[in-house]
Amino acid sequence: MSAAEDYRKKASTLTYRHQAFINGRFTNAASGETFDNYSPIDGQVLTAIAACDKEDVDRAVKAARTIFEKGTWSEMAPRERKTVMLKFAALIADNADELALLETLDMGKPITFSRQGDMEGVVRTVQWYAEAIDKIYDELAPMGTGAVGMITREPLGVVGAVVPWNFPLLMAAWKFAPALAAGNSVIMKPAEQSPLTCLRVAELASEAGIPDGVFQVLPGFGETAGQALGRHMDVDMIAFTGSTEVGKYFLKYSAETNMKHVSLECGGKSPNIVFADAPDLDAAAQDAGMAVFYNSGQVCVAATRLLVEESVHDEFLEKVKKVGETMQPGDPLDPATMMGTMVDSEQTERVKSYIEIGAKEGATLAYGGKQVRQNTGGYYLEPTIFDGVKNDMRIAREEIFGPVLSTLTFKDPEEALSIANDSIYGLQASVWTRDINKAHKVARKLKAGTVNVNNTDGGDITVPFGGYKQSGIGRDKSLHAYDKYSQLKTTYIELK
Ligand code: NDP
Repeated sequence: MSAAEDYRKKASTLTYRHQAFINGRFTNAASGETFDNYSPIDGQVLTAIAACDKEDVDRAVKAARTIFEKGTWSEMAPRERKTVMLKFAALIADNADELALLETLDMGKPITFSRQGDMEGVVRTVQWYAEAIDKIYDELAPMGTGAVGMITREPLGVVGAVVPWNFPLLMAAWKFAPALAAGNSVIMKPAEQSPLTCLRVAELASEAGIPDGVFQVLPGFGETAGQALGRHMDVDMIAFTGSTEVGKYFLKYSAETNMKHVSLECGGKSPNIVFADAPDLDAAAQDAGMAVFYNSGQVCVAATRLLVEESVHDEFLEKVKKVGETMQPGDPLDPATMMGTMVDSEQTERVKSYIEIGAKEGATLAYGGKQVRQNTGGYYLEPTIFDGVKNDMRIAREEIFGPVLSTLTFKDPEEALSIANDSIYGLQASVWTRDINKAHKVARKLKAGTVNVNNTDGGDITVPFGGYKQSGIGRDKSLHAYDKYSQLKTTYIELK
């Protein structure tokens, strides 16, 4: 039996959690409504999922608030909370094969990446925040002998987290791990395309000892469940990852209701600047290809604008095309597959429309551009490379969220910087050069939350991640994210 057949056999024995997880139990939506959850691998229905709405949000918020005020989790001794969170991480690790398979079936990414990239990232994230819990100290202000100024961190209360479908469980973990670690009650709203892993993990949270009401999951649509969370008067914070357009809605929801905290991780159009003196053009080309074709380009930080110094443009483009050749879409359940499916038919059509726009705008289609494997019933697009792109074209300005690379050229660092920074986004940027002075100077001038030097995919749970400009507000990962889910209290004691 091939490895892919083996995964198919395992998939046929899986049980899909399909109800909402409220107050420690799986339950139908109050309305009884469901929606079909499709696999983009073959377009087949996996299961019918509870379609939560306002009433379900009310139930979950009530449970979250009750347990928060009771203090069972929010006031638990840090060392005990750490122990529970470490058990939660261990349970996720024990079930990582099943979770990776669910992720691949649900949103079509290659099983190797689900298992290694996503699930290992989830476990590391939960472990890291668990370990941090009893190592974060509060502060005493410098008051002299007449007073004590205590600065203590307190959890915010009820946190709603609305997440997308491109890294369903990993994006969820970047929210729930620090929010839980800080003592909050968390309500997750996974994307309609990919709720399966979050629902399964809710069960594991319960098994680990996270009290009922502290970790809840409400599957459903953005305009119903997502909006109801965003507008709820008793939700203290919304942590969001997704499009810039929807991110702005959450600011509006907050402004029109209770001024809840809002953190936003939104879109990007990351520039990847390759100077002629890059340390290794082959390695740079390999990275440039992976940075836009990985996860079928459905990545907020995808380095979709390739800026190449004129003198090496022809040579470099040939090398990137060769990377495209090695990333042909294949069966996501085959461990050798490097590129899987698009998340659904809507996203496939959206990306195809951008490929048409690029050609109409006058860019040269240098590689790919077609939908393939249609006989499977799934949604597969070739790696696609445009050359001769100008920065005012839509394919250089708008987030396509597919495997489409726009290649531009520049003459000197000043021109590279002016193109790179001419964007409404500022999530991530990369620069390739062996000149340490040039690397530092360019990195400092790039308007992006993360700048990678001689790589395109830097980062670790220890460093903050988030955007400048319309790429977002606030940071995920690192202790800065822990702070985001806390508020500071000053207690001023006069000594008589
Ligand atoms: P969205 O921003 O539309 O969705 C992200 C989350 O927000 C989902 O859970 C979604 O629910 C929810 N949502 C949608 N509309 C509302 C609303 N009116 N009120 C409250 N919540 C809402 O991203 P999509 O998944 O639709 O993808 C569209 C585009 O967004 C992509 O093409 C890409 O450009 C960008 N994107 C960016 C990501 C990033 O990491 N920066 C990640 C994913 C997408 P529902 O499940 O119903 O859609």
